Amino acid sequence: MEHFKNRALSRVDGVITGHCIMCGKYLGNEYDTNYYALIRRKYCEEHAEAVHSLSMQAGRRRYKDKQRKTVKAMRSLIDEYMYRARLLQEYNEELQRELDDLKRRRL
Ligand SMILES: [Zn+2]
Repeated sequence: MEHFKNRALSRVDGVITGHCIMCGKYLGNEYDTNYYALIRRKYCEEHAEAVHSLSMQAGRRRYKDKQRKTVKAMRSLIDEYMYRARLLQEYNEELQRELDDLKRRRL
């Protein structure tokens, strides 16, 4: 039996014929339908729409996941900078105290 890359296709009485891979609905054959359109089709209209909306949902989910990861990375970067800023501020205050101390001693 001939193997088609598109699972919707098969040979019926020697004629390349398409059937929806979800429900088996007839999609056409190489004589009654544009050949290049036929070999690309996998679903009837109803299931093409369902599959499309599922893949849109998956796309939206991937996008949101990516956004969430970016926000998380930004937050930890901000935390890191805040920590470094606090260390610098503490160091600065220490230097200021030592400077004040030196000035006082010189007077
Ligand atoms: Zn279908």
